[in-house]
Amino acid sequence: MPAKTLQVEVAVPDGLVLDGPAVSVQLPLATGYLGVLPGHAPLLAELGTGVLTLTSEGNSEQHLAIDGGAAEILPDRVRVLADKAESAQDVDRERARQALERANSRLQLQSLEIDVERAQRALRRARARLAVAGHS
Ligand code: ATP
Repeated sequence: MPAKTLQVEVAVPDGLVLDGPAVSVQLPLATGYLGVLPGHAPLLAELGTGVLTLTSEGNSEQHLAIDGGAAEILPDRVRVLADKAESAQDVDRERARQALERANSRLQLQSLEIDVERAQRALRRARARLAVAGHS
């Protein structure tokens, strides 16, 4: 019988952030978002920057802003080892808004001195933080 729930564990270098059952989880992989349901084929994947959404029975959702790391997906379990995993309480909205503005203005400058990839990464981090804060 295939599993009906996933056991989802999210850890950062400092310790465990989240450990519990879920009916689905959406992961921000380096290549884009991946939705995982129980019974998913085993996969080892690199995380990108974005929002991890864990959906529990009854459709309640938990959101974490993730920035880099790796995820191990098994049919009944998802293990995330993230460089950063921030919940709404961790996010300083004003700081994230300023980071977003800074990244946006850098990207609009079109100067050779701008590290475009770095600014795009900063933009993704700020957007993920603001999205998570918006769910609180
Ligand atoms: P900033 O430009 O504001 O420093 P950043 O995206 O460059 O943002 P990071 O390098 O991702 O920042 O993070 C550096 C440290 O600051 C980490 O510990 C991170 O959790 C924390 N941090 C960054 N932005 C925020 C925020 N908006 N709210 C809470 N903590 C934040």
